Amino acid sequence: MAVVKVSLIDALREHFGFDSFKGNQEIIIKSILARKDTFVIMPTGGGKSLCYQLPALMSPGCALIVSPLIALMKNQVDLVRSYSSKDNVAHFLNSTLSKAQIKKVRTDLLSGKTKMLYVAPETLTKAENLEFFKELEISFIAVDEAHCISEWGHDFRPEYRRLKEMIEMINADLPIIALTATATPKVQSDIVKNLGLRDPQVYLSSFNRPNLYYEIRPKRKKEQTIREIVKFIHLHKGKSGIIYTLNRKTTEELADMLVANNIRAVAYHAGLDAGTRAQRQDMFLHEECEVIVATIAFGMGIDKPDVRFVIHYNIPKSLENYYQETGRAGRDGLEGICVCFYSYKDVQKLEHLMRDKPLSEREMGAQLINETVAYAESSACRRKVILHYFGEKYEEHQCNGACDNCRNPKEKIEVKNRVVIVLKA
Ligand code: ADP
Ligand code: MG
Ligand code: ZN
Repeated sequence: MAVVKVSLIDALREHFGFDSFKGNQEIIIKSILARKDTFVIMPTGGGKSLCYQLPALMSPGCALIVSPLIALMKNQVDLVRSYSSKDNVAHFLNSTLSKAQIKKVRTDLLSGKTKMLYVAPETLTKAENLEFFKELEISFIAVDEAHCISEWGHDFRPEYRRLKEMIEMINADLPIIALTATATPKVQSDIVKNLGLRDPQVYLSSFNRPNLYYEIRPKRKKEQTIREIVKFIHLHKGKSGIIYTLNRKTTEELADMLVANNIRAVAYHAGLDAGTRAQRQDMFLHEECEVIVATIAFGMGIDKPDVRFVIHYNIPKSLENYYQETGRAGRDGLEGICVCFYSYKDVQKLEHLMRDKPLSEREMGAQLINETVAYAESSACRRKVILHYFGEKYEEHQCNGACDNCRNPKEKIEVKNRVVIVLKA
């Protein structure tokens, strides 16, 4: 068989119209094309999809791509199709398809025209699908958002735990590519273990976001905090921002307060019906409102490049969550201000939320909270603490005043009798 050698860069131009690879993309793609198990750890927006899409287009057979969110699957497939002249180059298979649609997908798969099939983990638990995949030529399996496999991650999905078993039933020799934007060492080892990655090539990108400014503010009385937020938003008039709160009620209350202060704000949480949620999300994307006050239900898969600030009204439940949530600011590489209000009372609220959970979960939760508290109370460079948490080396002097502690060195922040005391150096 003659092997036609196409350079990767030519393939990139031909299929995507990009002139160069971003970060580690090229070396990752080479690893996948060499059929090695590959583990990609790259921050959100780094360009993970292309790492499996290009080799999928270049390999014989079809790649199976496991993705956790049914709602995002269609978008991803539409995006792939938009790069190609052929609609059947990519399909998805999940519970939203009709019998006729499933038949069409299967026909395209058998014809060899489809190079990428997006599946939900549930799709792989169905025996009839497994039987079908056994007969199909599959190039490799890509597991996107692989942190969903770990309870230490920020979005645990139990179905991800069964993936290894399913993949083995299809074909134990298939190369597996795991991708995630979660960089904590605990989550990483969980992924390698649970997916059974065999001596994987690991590609870890830097998680530093130099354009984000990190700040912790002591949270005092409610009215005062709201006044501070209003002032902050007025100072950044017309810019888009997200405010994260712990519970649904607070999103509504806070949004009302902001509206009363002439700020176009809407609330967003999982208790709203799907229509309202979609509508408010669109308002934010199309800038019909400036601020969205949300629970963590808001954000995953939302790609608004010019979010200029992310405010945490309550301390998040882990540093990982904090990184992901603040990561939604400044996607375009321009300014992103991340302010987190911190009080001991909010820490207790987080602990209280776990009261009915099994002991092991409470212990795990408590550890994550303690790490966040340590971050909030630290007088060290915020960026350094965050990056160290992800196992990355970073020296304070690189921060260049892009966090409160580097800008105004403090000796210590102490929490005494539920009051945060800031001692100036
Ligand atoms: P991730 O999954 O890591 O969050 P995506 O795969 O969604 O990131 O990619 C983020 C953005 O980067 C997309 O708009 C994508 O088109 C763009 N992108 C990816 N690779 C390249 C490249 N080599 N050149 C230019 N843009 C790229
Ligand atoms: Mg992605
Ligand atoms: Zn700093």
